[in-house]
Amino acid sequence: MIRILRNASLAVLGLAGGATVLKRRRLLREGKCLNQGICRACAVFDDCGLPRALSTRSVLARIRDAK
Ligand code: SF4
Repeated sequence: MIRILRNASLAVLGLAGGATVLKRRRLLREGKCLNQGICRACAVFDDCGLPRALSTRSVLARIRDAK
């Protein structure tokens, strides 16, 4: 019985995680920001193609190059 509950819990967690990933992808595809424009604290910063993320990466690269 415990095994069934554990497996059901894991399945629910897996589905919730998958739904979250799909929702993030859909929002990014629609050009919507996931983190209120706070790129440095955003989980998708490295892969984000929104203008704010591109600008932030550009600024960070300039700062890094200037050192
Ligand atoms: S990386 Fe920046 S622009 Fe892209 S979703 Fe995150 S906060 Fe928004």
